[in-house]
Amino acid sequence: MALIVQKYGGTSVANPDRIKNVAARVAGYRERGDRLVVVVSAMSGVTDSLLKLAKEILPLPPEREMDMLLATGEQTTIALTAMALHARDVPAVSLTGAQAGIVTDRVHTKAKIQNITPRQIHALLDSGQVVIVAGFQGQTQEGQITTLGRGGSDLTAIALAAALKADLCQIFTDVDGVYTADPRLVPSARKLDEVAYDELLELAGAGAKVMQLRSVEFAKKFGVVFEVRSSLNDNPGTIVKEETKSMEGIVVRGVSLDKNQAKITVVAAPDRPGVSSRIFHALADAAINVDMIVQNVSHGSARPITDLSFTIDKPDLLKARKVMDALKPEIGFREVIANEGVAKLSIVGVGMRSHSGVAAKMFETLAREDINIDMISTSEIKISVVVDLAKGEAATRAVHEAFLG
Ligand code: ASP
Ligand code: MG
Repeated sequence: MALIVQKYGGTSVANPDRIKNVAARVAGYRERGDRLVVVVSAMSGVTDSLLKLAKEILPLPPEREMDMLLATGEQTTIALTAMALHARDVPAVSLTGAQAGIVTDRVHTKAKIQNITPRQIHALLDSGQVVIVAGFQGQTQEGQITTLGRGGSDLTAIALAAALKADLCQIFTDVDGVYTADPRLVPSARKLDEVAYDELLELAGAGAKVMQLRSVEFAKKFGVVFEVRSSLNDNPGTIVKEETKSMEGIVVRGVSLDKNQAKITVVAAPDRPGVSSRIFHALADAAINVDMIVQNVSHGSARPITDLSFTIDKPDLLKARKVMDALKPEIGFREVIANEGVAKLSIVGVGMRSHSGVAAKMFETLAREDINIDMISTSEIKISVVVDLAKGEAATRAVHEAFLG
């Protein structure tokens, strides 16, 4: 008799039929004798429409009220899911995050879970109930409702699995698992049987939207092994776990393309101590996330100058231009060039640690396709390049073919 935590995302509970399907699946596990805690998200699109609704009343709503509002999305789904189980004569009880014992800090709209006291969950499981828990929400020690940041239902599930010492944690979604590349982009992409936490983190950071980053970090920290699988079929999914020796045999686990990037080049900036510090402090103060940074070798001996390029998220481009324009008189660079037409292509794999020539093979593949590399950055288990946006998809297919074809 296993204790299983299952999470169903927004598309898995998008309408009454899908909710009935979830209930059928849950009932099936229960018939096997398993004990089940089921975490659900808001029905797809609901959180977005609540956000929109709020903004129509007040452009910048107080975050406490925002949480009060957003928490209703998941509250709707838990009740409907419990009802769908009752319709099948399966005893089930829905719990809000607070009722499930999820205590967070006081940072409204992106609260962190501080501890979980699952007393009520245990009591309900002991009495034979299926427990349905609202994802994405908790409460502060003072009893205020909080939410955990977008995509936070994943975190609820992983954290509950850790707190309950569950035998199995399953994240049900609308894809069959984690793929070697986005199958819409690369038709030959394959589903992975397993992936290491660090690989999934790098893939997600590189634009592959499988799960909320923070919940993968949490799973890694607490050693929660979980499975990502589809709620629309019975195919086994992808197991996410700590890396093993055998995983190193594969050099590249996945390829991903991030089209949401923009590049800024600061032309002819004085090459003296403090310039980079000034620029990146100003960007950080404006809450702009900088990803890759490349600085050229400086030229000129009396007053050396250099070019500096960096990438940011595309929606931050206007804000970043403003920051840079404001810095121009103080720093004295020649101009700022912004380029929205770029994409970041990354390859990820823990096997890179023990294999050489991986970068060379990636660059050679791109050269063969006549694709120019704009910027390069590497970590122990990832190589990323910035390329022309128009060539991003072709580049992804070529690199996937070279390493995973
Ligand atoms: N409903 C929330 C969101 O859309 C949480 C989640 O889906 O995980 O971000
Ligand atoms: Mg979601």
